[in-house]
Amino acid sequence: MTASTVVESVQWWSLDQPCPICGGHPFLRRKSGVRCHGFRSADGRFARCAGEERAGMLMIGADRLFGHKLGDGGERVVELRWKGRVA
Ligand SMILES: [Zn+2]
Repeated sequence: MTASTVVESVQWWSLDQPCPICGGHPFLRRKSGVRCHGFRSADGRFARCAGEERAGMLMIGADRLFGHKLGDGGERVVELRWKGRVA
């Protein structure tokens, strides 16, 4: 994926572009890993992730996804600070 790639609205997680939060995407077999039906927001600042165990104290949205803020490079920003635990 390059910067010139046109993103129409949101970027759904896929084989090539898995969820940066849980590493999952919708095409994984159930036994082989996390299935995540989330997506990257149009502005690239947030990742929507379905993984509850990675959500920490985030609120779940109406779409049953958690919104994770992403860093400038689109990477996951660690925001799990409670109990000193970093997942
Ligand atoms: Zn996810």
